[in-house]
Amino acid sequence: MSDTGGGHRASAEALSAALNTLYPGQLNISIVDMWTKYGVWPYNRLVQTYRFLGRRPLLWRIAYDLGRIPLFRRLQEAWCGLLCFAGVKRCLTENKPDLIVSVHPLCQTLPLRVLKSMGGGTKRVPFVTVVTDLASAHPTWFHRGVDAAYVPTEALRRMARRQGLKPEQVRLTGLPIRPEFWCTGAPPTKAKARARLGLLHAAPTAVIVGGGDGVGRLSEIAHSVADQLSADMPLSQLVVVCGRNEAVRAALQARPWPPNVQVTVLGFIPHLDMYMAAADVLVTKAGPGTIAEACALGVPLILSSFLPGQESGNVPFVTEGGFGTYEHRPRGIAHAVSALLLDPPRLQEMGRKARSAGRPRATLDIAADLVQTMLPPVRQ
Ligand code: UDP
Repeated sequence: MSDTGGGHRASAEALSAALNTLYPGQLNISIVDMWTKYGVWPYNRLVQTYRFLGRRPLLWRIAYDLGRIPLFRRLQEAWCGLLCFAGVKRCLTENKPDLIVSVHPLCQTLPLRVLKSMGGGTKRVPFVTVVTDLASAHPTWFHRGVDAAYVPTEALRRMARRQGLKPEQVRLTGLPIRPEFWCTGAPPTKAKARARLGLLHAAPTAVIVGGGDGVGRLSEIAHSVADQLSADMPLSQLVVVCGRNEAVRAALQARPWPPNVQVTVLGFIPHLDMYMAAADVLVTKAGPGTIAEACALGVPLILSSFLPGQESGNVPFVTEGGFGTYEHRPRGIAHAVSALLLDPPRLQEMGRKARSAGRPRATLDIAADLVQTMLPPVRQ
C-alpha cells in the first residue's frame, strides 16, 4: 500500500485485524508503504504529492485523467519500472511473503512484474487486490494478472470486468473497515457515545470530517454550519475533525463560535467511530472509507465534496441509496445540516437506509478468503 490519504492504511489495518481475529497468532502480517520505503524520487514522495493534489481538485483531475490514457500509463509504468524495479524487488525479498495483498491502485503493475521476474520455483506467491474505492475507481486498480480482486460494490464489479478481469477473478464483498465498526457487536448508542466523549447529551449533533488529511474547505463549512445552527435552534453541538490538517485545526481552535453552539475542534482521531456513533449527521467529503464506516453505523451523510474521478461515483451511491445528500457550497451544506437536524423522522429513515447499504462483515469475509487463497499450492 501507500499512505496516500487515510483510507488505504485503514483498510490494510482492518484486514490485518480481521486475519488476526480469525487466525490468532498464526499469521505474520506486514503493512508496507511500498513507495515511501522502497521507491526512489519522485515515487517516494507519493504521499506528499497526493496531499498537494487533494487540495487542488483541478490539478488532481488532470493527473487522474492522464493516468487513464493507456499510452501515458504505459510510458509512466515503464519509467517507474526503470527507477523502482530494484526497490520493489528488495521489498519482496525482505518481506518474503506467502501472499501479497495490494490495497492501493498504484501497487499492482510493478510488484506483479517483479514477482514474475523472480519466478519462485515450486512456491508461487499469490497476489490479490482489495479495492478500497467504493463506487468509482481508477483503471490502475484492475490488473489481469491478479489471483483475485475484491470489490465493494456492483459498480466496481462491472468495472473490473470491463478492464478484462475474468468473472472468477472478481469477488464482490464490500469495503474493509476497521474492527471498531464490526467486532464489538451492536454499535454504541448515541447517548453512550456522547457520554464517553463528554459531549452534550441531548443537543442535536453534527460532525464534520475531511478524510485523514482534513481536506475540503473544513473551515468555511464549519463556520457556515455553526452560524446556521445558532440561528435555527436554541442549543446544538458541532464536532470538527481536522485529521492531519494542523493548519485548519489551529485556525478553527483560535476562532470564536456562537454561544449556543458547542463546538469541539479536533485533530486526527484514532477512534473516529465513537464520534460517528455520537453524530446525528455526518458532513464529509465523499471518501470511501468514511462512507462505508458511516453506513456500518447507520449515520446519515451530507457529502460536501468529492475528488473528481476517484470519488465521483460515491456521490450517487449515497444520494440514490437515500441515506445522504450532496451540497457543495458551505451555505447549502449549513442549510442541509440544520434542516436534517430539525427533522428526526427523516434522520431515522436515512439512518435505516445507511445501515442497509453497509456491509459490516466484509472485512471478515475477505480475510477468510485471503487465507484460502494462500493455503493451497495454487500454481506450479
Ligand atoms: N480517519 C480517522 N481519524 C480522523 C480522520 C479520518 O481515523 O481524524 C479515518 C476515517 O475513519 C477513514 C479514513 O480516515 O477510515 C479516511 O478514509 P477515506 O476513504 O474516507 O478518505 P481518504 O482520507 O482516504 O481520502
